[in-house]
Amino acid sequence: MFLERLVLGMLGTNCFVLAERAGGEAAVIDPAGEVRKIISVLKKNELRCGKILLTHGHADHVSGCGPLSEATGATVYIHPLDADALRSIKNQLVGLTGRVLATRPQRIKHLSHGDRLEVGELELEVLHTPGHTLGGVSFYLPGHLFCGDLIFAGSIGRTDLKGGSLQALLQAVEEHVWDLPGETVIHPGHGPETTLEREKRSNPFLIGLRGGRS
Ligand SMILES: [Zn+2]
Ligand SMILES: [Zn+2]
Repeated sequence: MFLERLVLGMLGTNCFVLAERAGGEAAVIDPAGEVRKIISVLKKNELRCGKILLTHGHADHVSGCGPLSEATGATVYIHPLDADALRSIKNQLVGLTGRVLATRPQRIKHLSHGDRLEVGELELEVLHTPGHTLGGVSFYLPGHLFCGDLIFAGSIGRTDLKGGSLQALLQAVEEHVWDLPGETVIHPGHGPETTLEREKRSNPFLIGLRGGRS
């Protein structure tokens, strides 16, 4: 499998370029800006980007999706409950940076829980994992979970922003993440990767959830 993490933008957001192999079809997860850097990874590895996958609608995760979609022809995938963010992307970015950095993508498809997305020979499963935002999703590929701002190494995403709910976040983790294999590598939206097993054992927000009590 080909997987490269780029740390992009003012908030140090993780962007992932994922493919079965170099030379194949790729998905870009959370194009967080600095689109030239993403395109140079695609070019260097002869990857064709067919899908842009958004874990949620916050500007620091989506700000490159318009230009990247334009440059590659890729379709942008987002959960409908976060899709409004793409309409207000300019306003969000002005608020964040004082400048308009991006345009709204033309090709958008909505995600639902349980959808399966093909990236070359890889198949990603969509898990609806709200709590940080209403339309937050995680992308699961056996062995890997791309969870946006749901879980971080040793922490969880903020739940005090619009659409956030600590209860919803913990419930999403219990329902859709907890029973994945412990060795699953968690790729969060910020900071280093971790494993599900490690977080179940040591993440202070997750200790005490179902199974954590046994
Ligand atoms: Zn966020
Ligand atoms: Zn974030």
